[in-house]
Amino acid sequence: MNKTQKIALVTGASKGIGAAIAKELAAEGFHLWLNYRSDAAAAQQVGDEIEAAGGSYTLLPFDVADADATAEVLEPLLENDVPAVLVNNAGFARDGILALMSQGDWENVLAVHLNGFFNVTRLVVARMLKKRRGRIINIVSTSGETGMAGQVNYSAAKAGLIGATRSLAAEVGRRNILVNAVSPGFIATDMTEDLPMDQILPIIPLGRIGQPEEVSGLVSFLCSDRASYITGQVFAVNGGAHI
Ligand code: NAP
Repeated sequence: MNKTQKIALVTGASKGIGAAIAKELAAEGFHLWLNYRSDAAAAQQVGDEIEAAGGSYTLLPFDVADADATAEVLEPLLENDVPAVLVNNAGFARDGILALMSQGDWENVLAVHLNGFFNVTRLVVARMLKKRRGRIINIVSTSGETGMAGQVNYSAAKAGLIGATRSLAAEVGRRNILVNAVSPGFIATDMTEDLPMDQILPIIPLGRIGQPEEVSGLVSFLCSDRASYITGQVFAVNGGAHI
């Protein structure tokens, strides 16, 4: 990393949408702080691909839902460097009908999406405020915008994150920190590989599920100078699944 290079912190960047975002931002010239939770081999593979393409990265393994672990990794780094971009992408789903949902599946899904957003963003935005610049992108979901049976926990978490996006945008706009949400529909990743495509494809006007790169392109735009007057918005990338 060189001294003048801007940093982008992407959570959950070892695979899927986060990996595509990390690679695209690295190609745009950002030094990547590449967070993941458990899959070190997959994260290393993303790092290798970034390096092979001429980019640079730092691997940051921690669980975003764990406030102490997040602070232990991020605080020493933030003493010296402040990311210009934060993408809150880490997440997972634990689907099931509410009547049968365990306390753990409710709490863990809220913890990764909502506490994870809080644990990481609180630390980073405090430094962005001093620098008077920054872009924060929260990866939400169609499930946070409309009803989705079997996803009450996940919908609640993503709808909450949409609310947090709007309020934080209102809070930090005067300091030139822009906060937006990107809301994917069905995207081909580990998260969707077991879903019944015969039932899903008929509800998508474009007739197919999306690719991670079809989400990362929008995130990259929102992190660019061209998106300098956009804040507090939710942008859908869903093939028309929710219009
Ligand atoms: P994915 O392929 O399963 O990847 C999830 C990533 O998040 C992995 O890098 C994983 O790291 C990381 N992660 C999970 N829990 C974490 C934690 N507690 N702390 C740190 N990292 C954690 O999922 P994806 O489909 O790309 O989803 C990425 C984001 O997009 C999520 O927020 C998801 O809700 C959202 N989304 C996805 C879709 C879709 O159709 N795929 C649609 C709408 C929204 P490890 O593997 O190392 O544990």
